[in-house]
Amino acid sequence: MLFGPPGAGKGTQAKILQTERSLPQLSTGDMLREAIAAGSDLGKQCKVLMDRGELVSDEIVVGIIGERYDQPDCANGAVFDGFPRTIPQAEALDAMLAARAKKIDIVIALTVDDAVLVSRAEQRVKETIAAGGKPRADDTPDTLKHRLGVYYKNTAPLLDFYKKQGKVVTVDGMAPIADVTKAIAAVLDAHR
Ligand code: ADP
Repeated sequence: MLFGPPGAGKGTQAKILQTERSLPQLSTGDMLREAIAAGSDLGKQCKVLMDRGELVSDEIVVGIIGERYDQPDCANGAVFDGFPRTIPQAEALDAMLAARAKKIDIVIALTVDDAVLVSRAEQRVKETIAAGGKPRADDTPDTLKHRLGVYYKNTAPLLDFYKKQGKVVTVDGMAPIADVTKAIAAVLDAHR
């Protein structure tokens, strides 16, 4: 599992793990954005909350992750990215994995200072616009601050949940991308 605040670099590193280790990236944020793009009822339900930087319901994300995890490409493992985000989600995940004789092997927590997260989000907006794209509706400065608040209130407590299970390893998420990738590889190799 990759863990950390919005903009910590979870998605970037999950994509690298997907390519280099054939571990599918299970990003609930991406799945929800796909549902919105597809115009499904579920997408419509989630859009308002996501645009505001609020969490969607545990029930919805637990449902979509369960469906995705049961696809054959996850048989040899996967990387959870942006899930779980609440204690009930973490409990549901543990139960889902236990029912399949699987478990979370390791939680890699990417640490990044808030000021850096804010400037990364600003940068992401600028780059998207420069490339002719449309920035994410939840990447405005105010919404990002709100997402950070939601992270500290609802999601950060999960670190203790996983520390109690002895699963947390911390990686400096402010190092250059290639160095973060190396640090994660070292953690995974040591864990085998
Ligand atoms: P970030 O770039 O902030 O890490 P994500 O792409 O992971 O964002 O998620 C974007 C939004 O999707 C969140 O702000 C939230 O509204 C919704 N979302 C994603 N994953 C979850 C989850 N596990 N539980 C609840 N809401 C989620």
